Parts: sequence; C-alpha cells; structure tokens
Amino acid sequence: MDRIIKKNPNQPEFHQAVLEVFESILPFVVKNKKYAKRTLLEIMSEPERTIGFRISWQNDEGNIEVNKGYRVQMSSSIGPYKGGLRFHPSVNLSILKFLAFEQIFKNSLTSLPLGAGKGGSDFDPKGKSDNEIRRFCQNFMTELYRHIGDSTDIPAGDIGVGAREIGYLFGQYKKITNQFNGVLTGKTYGWGGSLIRPEATGYGCVYFTQHLLKDRNEDLEGQKIGISGSGNVAQYAAEKAIELGGIVQTLSDSKGVVYAENGLKQEHIEFTKILKNEKRGRIKELADHFDGIKYFESEKPWRFPLSIALPSATQNELNLGEVNSLVSNGLKYVVEGANMPTTPDAISFLHANNVAYGPGKASNAGGVATSGLEMSQNALKLHWSSQEVDQKLQGIMTNIHAQCKEFGSESGSINYAKGANIAGFVRVADAMLDQGLA
Ligand code: NDP
Repeated sequence: MDRIIKKNPNQPEFHQAVLEVFESILPFVVKNKKYAKRTLLEIMSEPERTIGFRISWQNDEGNIEVNKGYRVQMSSSIGPYKGGLRFHPSVNLSILKFLAFEQIFKNSLTSLPLGAGKGGSDFDPKGKSDNEIRRFCQNFMTELYRHIGDSTDIPAGDIGVGAREIGYLFGQYKKITNQFNGVLTGKTYGWGGSLIRPEATGYGCVYFTQHLLKDRNEDLEGQKIGISGSGNVAQYAAEKAIELGGIVQTLSDSKGVVYAENGLKQEHIEFTKILKNEKRGRIKELADHFDGIKYFESEKPWRFPLSIALPSATQNELNLGEVNSLVSNGLKYVVEGANMPTTPDAISFLHANNVAYGPGKASNAGGVATSGLEMSQNALKLHWSSQEVDQKLQGIMTNIHAQCKEFGSESGSINYAKGANIAGFVRVADAMLDQGLA
C-alpha cells in the first residue's frame, strides 16, 4: 500500500478504494498460497493503460472552451474494458482510477465476460444547452473513438452521461468509423439499447436489498427508506422500492433534499424523471409542485429517521457523524446505489453496530450486468423482452448475493463487503494467473 501511495501521489479516492479491498482480502490471500506468492493485488491496482486527451469545443457564444478527457483501461483479464463515462467538474484521475478499480471486482461479480474501465471529463453539463452538449460529446468522441471498440472497450453512462449523451457519442463514433455496432451501452431502445437498462442499477440495488432483508427475516413492506440523489440510479431505486411496499421518504440533489413523511408515490417519481431527464431542473420543484413534500436547502437525507439508507448520488456522501445519528434513529441497512458513497470510518461503525452493509460493487452491479446483456443482444442482433431482461437481472443479483455470503460469512454474521471483494478477486486473479499476467 505504501508503494501504491508513493507511485500515485495526490489520489486520495484511489488510495481509499484500493485500501478497502486490500484490507478485507489480505487474510484470504495470505491463507491461499496460490495468490500469496505473487504481487497480484499490486498488479491489479495499476491500470493496463491510462489515456488522457484535450477536448476543445465551441460554446453558444462562439468561443472555444477546453476540458480534460480520460479513459482508464484498468483490467482486461476477464473481458474487454467496461465501465461508464462521467461528466462532472470534479472528475480527475484519482476519481476515475478509484471507479475503474472498483469496476474490476463489480464486473467480476456479475459472472459475465466484462473487464474494467472508467472515463470521463471535467466538463460540467449543468446549464449547458443541448447544442453545447452535442458539440462537446462529438469532440470527446473524436478523441476517444481510436481507443474503444465493441470487443476492446465499451463505455456506458455515469454521472452526467445519460441517454442524450450516449446518443450524441454514438452518432459521432458511427460517423468516424462507419461502423454500427455495440461500442457503447445505455443506448436508446430503438437503435440497439436494451429494455430495462435505464432501470437496471436502481432495480438491481433494491433486489439486492431484498436479499439482505431476507437474511434477517425481514422484507421491504413498511420500511422507511432514504434515497440520496435524484438521477438515474435514485429514480429507479425509488420506483422499485415503492412497488415492493417500501416507504421512500427522500430524494435529493446537490442543492438539497425533499422529504415525504408518508412516502413518495409513483406519480412523484414520474414527475422527477421528467424534471431531471428532460427539464433538467432542481429537486426543490418536486416539493413546490406537490402537497405533503417538504424541501430542505443544503441538507442531506441522513438527518431523518430511516430504517434503510440507499446512498445513490456520489462518493463519500455518507460519513461517520451521519451514520452515527442514523443508527441512533433506528437504521438497520445501508445498501449503496452509488460507488463508494460511505466513508471508511462510517463503514466500520456500521459493522460494529450490526447494520447490514451492502457495498456498491455488489449492490449496484445490476447496471453493468444489464450493459453486458445489451452487448449480448447487440452481438446476436436481436432484442429480449423486458420480462426476460428483468429475470436475468434478478438472477444475477441473486447470484452476487450468494457469492457475498459464501466468501463473507464469519462467526454468525455476514460481511458482504469482504465477500464481494474476495469473490470478485478470485475470478480475476485466476484469469491473470492462467494468462501469465502475474
Ligand atoms: P446522475 O447524473 O443521473 O445523477 C446523479 C445524482 O447525484 C444527481 O441527483 C446529482 O445532483 C447528485 N450528485 C452528483 N454529484 C453530487 C455531489 N457532489 N453532491 C451531491 N449530489 C451529487 O448519475 P447516476 O444516477 O447515474 O449515478 C449516481 C451514482 O451511481 C454514481 O456514484 C455512479 O457512479 C453510480 N452508478 C451509476 C450507474 C448507472 O448505471 N448509471 C451504475 C453503477 C453505479 P445534481 O444534479 O445536483 O448534481
């Protein structure tokens, strides 16, 4: 770990992600001679390739602006590089390397042939016109296209990259290469997308939550659920949790949180989808528009008494002080829709207080898994029905939970994070050893 920190200075999020995995799997690696002899973990934490490029694009005033673009191709041991693109002003190599590293274990857990990657830009889509977004995406792809391909590296969406951006990126890829193929996932259904892909991360997170509840002889009915974020993951986690009887009390964005004591209804989720995906407004407008919903400026969902927290916005958004007060107020489950939303000291506190903790690399893997299903449909040149994709998604989440239990059971309790890390590691490590990569 010291060597990794020295070789990758000023990358705190990357160090955090690597340390979390190292600490939890070290006893397993030491016990299993096959893995202990080699510096497998150290090799895994070094990206196979890191690409950086300039994106210059024209704004609506006719001026040229410039942003940084990246693709971190982390691991191709079990399949082509696979992982999303994030457009957000906070994007830098530390964040993309942490996300790409997490992706190794997540993609391995899906049991599909998916390597790991992540990319994006420090471009801020907020307040930009459709034309500016289009020009930015086209210029981003003009650089990225030479590094990706449907059997090399298959990007998807993440924060700030949804169906609109994937459309513009795909249009430019096709124009440059003259190829119509499955180089991106998260495409719109009419031209190669998969049914249930937009829903998959949120739905999958709730399916995983159901398994955690079942392990403790509980179910979703009547549980008070707090969800952070109001983007892709949060919208569909809320939708599925409501459908299954949960009382979803919060959604949020970077400006504040909305709270519905009696629970949000499907009509509120439909309003949020249009608000966020089309009008690109603030979550406050949900409270402005409906009775029984309050808005709290600059606050997060964690101030309310909840039995289940589904952090679904961004990294390090749930800290020790917040979990401390949540646990005093009856919190029993934290299941991560986002990547690494819970800080390390908060995770230790959850374990110490018998709160079931579902790590993002397991609980939000339904998104990339369904991207894998989109790739299969593209390769077969056919579409599966919603029901078929949803059944496969449920099967994959059940299988991920089973792996977490198999490798994470310890003296009467289950450490799902340890289980996810070990199960994810074994498949990739075995492939690396087979292929002479370690
Ligand atoms: P979206 O861009 O659709 O939504 C992001 C949401 O999080 C918005 O409500 C946004 O609010 C909020 N948010 C983002 N950054 C911050 C911040 N710094 N502070 C407070 N709120 C913030 O992204 P997704 O829903 O796709 O992604 C959410 C999380 O889920 C990310 O961690 C992502 O990596 C992870 N994830 C996503 C998958 C997917 O399939 N989309 C798959 C697996 C994981 P605002 O609009 O105000 O910025």
